[in-house]
Amino acid sequence: MRQYEDTYRHKGLRKQLIATLRQKGITDERVLEAINNLPRHYFLDTAFDQIAYEDRAFPIGEGQTISQPYTVAYQSQLLEIKPFEKVLEIGTGSAYQASVLAELGAHVYTIERQKKLFDANKTFVFKAKYHNLKFFYGDGFEGLPTYGPFDKVIITAAAPFIPEKLLAQLKPGGKMVIPVDEGDAQRMLRITKSADGTFTEEAFEQFSFVPMLTGKNG
Ligand code: SAH
Repeated sequence: MRQYEDTYRHKGLRKQLIATLRQKGITDERVLEAINNLPRHYFLDTAFDQIAYEDRAFPIGEGQTISQPYTVAYQSQLLEIKPFEKVLEIGTGSAYQASVLAELGAHVYTIERQKKLFDANKTFVFKAKYHNLKFFYGDGFEGLPTYGPFDKVIITAAAPFIPEKLLAQLKPGGKMVIPVDEGDAQRMLRITKSADGTFTEEAFEQFSFVPMLTGKNG
């Protein structure tokens, strides 16, 4: 079985990554601390050990990627997570983003549609640390109606449109952070549900995500 070790070198590289994220405009200290606490190299194949703290996306198998740290920080900052909030994530992938949310004290429900990636997280010993992180195999377009409503919803794949079912699973006052568009780049949107059930939308920077696909795979 793979040995996990968080060396001084890894910790040093992580500090540099935090400095890079600050330079790029991330200001939420709790988000920066959560990223600083998380050994990102644990979420990647050992082949990436020395480059795991570069601000880049990397392959995680099944044609998918672990998001770039800047993207993870950006989405986490927009979510304005408070401890004990219920958060739904679509697109578990490596579970890195989900673990950042768990570090922020949220109760995280994360869905993955690729069976192999879902199964890999079941045997990922590090995640046993988080009792506030639950994994689901399914189609994120459906959300988790029996576990909702949620304070926050985050989509970590390029959504072709804003899924109605996910909006319905937001609490009044809840927020969704979602990259929308089918082209090469997606606009990051933050949608807030008001007490009367209406929605307001804010648009932020452009990012590039792998596509959000319908149905399960595997
Ligand atoms: N949050 C991840 C990023 C993974 S990339 C991380 O931190 O590593 C996006 C992931 O979304 C992929 O694993 C892909 O399989 C998954 N995905 C795409 N469409 C989905 C859907 N409809 N439901 C659930 N997961 C989906």
